[in-house]
Amino acid sequence: MPLKANDPSLTSWLPVPENSDFPIQNIPFGVFLTRDDIITIGTRIGDHAIDLGALHQLGYFRDIPLTDDIFLQDTLNDFISDGKKTWRLVRNRISELFQKNNQELQKNQEHQKIVLFTMDEIEMQLPVQIGDYTDFYSSKEHATNVGKMFRDPDNALLPNWLHLPVGYHGRSSTIIPSGTPVRRPNGQTLPKGADKPVFGPSRLLDFELEMAFITTDANALGEPIKIDEAEDYIFGLVLFNDWSARDLQKWEYVPLGPFLGKNFASSISPWIVTLDALEPFRVASPKQDPHPLPYLAQKGKKSFDIHLEVDIRTEDGSQTTLSRTNFKYMYWTMAQQLAHHTINGCKVNSGDMLGSGTISGPTPDSYGSMLELSWQGTKEIPLADGTTRKFLKDHDTVVMKGYCSRDGVRIGFGEISTKILPALEL
Ligand code: MN
Repeated sequence: MPLKANDPSLTSWLPVPENSDFPIQNIPFGVFLTRDDIITIGTRIGDHAIDLGALHQLGYFRDIPLTDDIFLQDTLNDFISDGKKTWRLVRNRISELFQKNNQELQKNQEHQKIVLFTMDEIEMQLPVQIGDYTDFYSSKEHATNVGKMFRDPDNALLPNWLHLPVGYHGRSSTIIPSGTPVRRPNGQTLPKGADKPVFGPSRLLDFELEMAFITTDANALGEPIKIDEAEDYIFGLVLFNDWSARDLQKWEYVPLGPFLGKNFASSISPWIVTLDALEPFRVASPKQDPHPLPYLAQKGKKSFDIHLEVDIRTEDGSQTTLSRTNFKYMYWTMAQQLAHHTINGCKVNSGDMLGSGTISGPTPDSYGSMLELSWQGTKEIPLADGTTRKFLKDHDTVVMKGYCSRDGVRIGFGEISTKILPALEL
């Protein structure tokens, strides 16, 4: 089925501001609370949110086989379960309905009043019920930097790293949408030189600039997903901030890996941009040497050219860009991550979320965490308000953004904006 919605020449009868992340070629999916306190599934063009539940009730999807209540839900899981063919039919139909020359809804003011909202009238929710969350460690630059700091500068990558996408199972209960503040966690840390831990607020609070993809029901228990088919089971991507307390992490992580230093919060951007919308922005991933084992060997361009940025906004309102990087730097691709995740028969469900791991580029201004930017707290990072940071302070707001750009079309993810609150006094 052709991806008609990706045609760069399309324009919409809805206004789209210059440099908007949401032209008619994007058509992301999300869940929002309307001005009437109703939760619905929707999409976005420019600064308008579109209620897909209402559109469906008014008959605008009558030619697509959909259950009546598919969009009248508080998560996208059932829609995602319908599979790629349905996602494409719906995205193409939305595209058609909002094209400049289409009069169906454009001439119907009554229907527009029911289905259109401005962004300030709605409140974005988590788009999916996330059953399971896995986080990878797939940026070679990030893994090398962390290995240099924590282990041996001459052998920064462990022997397995170039042979498989290393990952761990995270915690889905604390994944939150943009706008929800994060409280600095309390926990055990081992002060430098001490032989006993102390308890208190984390002093090394950090972000991790990542992207995450959301899967559909992909396999039966015991059945691996073949690498050539893996992308068929990826619904779309969001920006992902995997909050990390480095001092808690350092004390607890051996021998089983991340635990309380990671599971207090992870933030996502609320609109899921479909893999279909990202199709024009495919690029080759970094050359892999040694060549991966056959079950991880991929053909064609399996990465995406997504510009990423992380900013910090301080209490005076000033904003400093800390890092600019790109999703294309990831050594292991999403297809390889999904193929590896299921090679032992692990079952993947609709709404599972798989994080890329911190995305660091090759240069110091492209590192995806404070840990790397301040090189483990050995460098001060200057901010626009005249202060400096090694790690994050209370009341800082971390903002992550991402977009693709080609042939005059910009497809973006919006942003994740999260304010840090002081730790609870325990
Ligand atoms: Mn992470």
